[in-house]
Amino acid sequence: MKTIGLIGGMSAESTTVYYQLINRLVRERLGGLHSAQIALWSLDFAPIAALQAKDDWEATGRILADAARRLEGAGAEAILICANTMHLNYAEVAGAVAAPVIHIADATAEALKAKGVGKALLLATRFTMEKPFYAERLAAQGIETLTPDKADREALHAIIYDELVVGVITDASKAAVLAMIDKGRAAGCDGIVFGCTEIGLLLDPADMPLPTVDTAVAHCEGAVAFALS
Ligand code: GLU
Repeated sequence: MKTIGLIGGMSAESTTVYYQLINRLVRERLGGLHSAQIALWSLDFAPIAALQAKDDWEATGRILADAARRLEGAGAEAILICANTMHLNYAEVAGAVAAPVIHIADATAEALKAKGVGKALLLATRFTMEKPFYAERLAAQGIETLTPDKADREALHAIIYDELVVGVITDASKAAVLAMIDKGRAAGCDGIVFGCTEIGLLLDPADMPLPTVDTAVAHCEGAVAFALS
């Protein structure tokens, strides 16, 4: 089995999901007492979030590249950035290590295609919804994306940063995101992307009115496929 390196802490709430899910998937595939070989470098999210808010992606890139090097030094044979937003720094991370860096949008595109989704509602941080890096990566694999309108994008961003990354789950936020999904369906989306690794803490993909991919789950499945290959 190959060793997976996780750059976590963005946020710690979703890194917990990665750790648990990767271990469960390995146990399901190999049986018995098997679990995954994981190296985790978990960052303090406060300085990262402060740099994001200042749009200082050079500084975040240096921090993530340093984390990737530490993981490779610890024996990681593939690296995962356990957040969608921080794939803004994918090139810096991939350039820092010899190990492959499994891109969350590639894993997501595979899962969307398997569900027959061609036009997905992208629910994510403002950075992931408004900067081109994520939609372009999905478009390269034939997946078109729509995002909520500006007011809803701001509301969703606030739900993620004020609530989900600190473990706060509310019915009001569930209702707000479900209303965004209804609008997305009316606008012609045939699927949903939980494009922030904390959205799966708020809503269950199985309860959604359209085929839904939770990016954290797709990313973990990609990691396990690599580890067992
Ligand atoms: N985990 C989130 C994501 O998937 C948001 C937190 C962050 O900005 O890293 O984008």
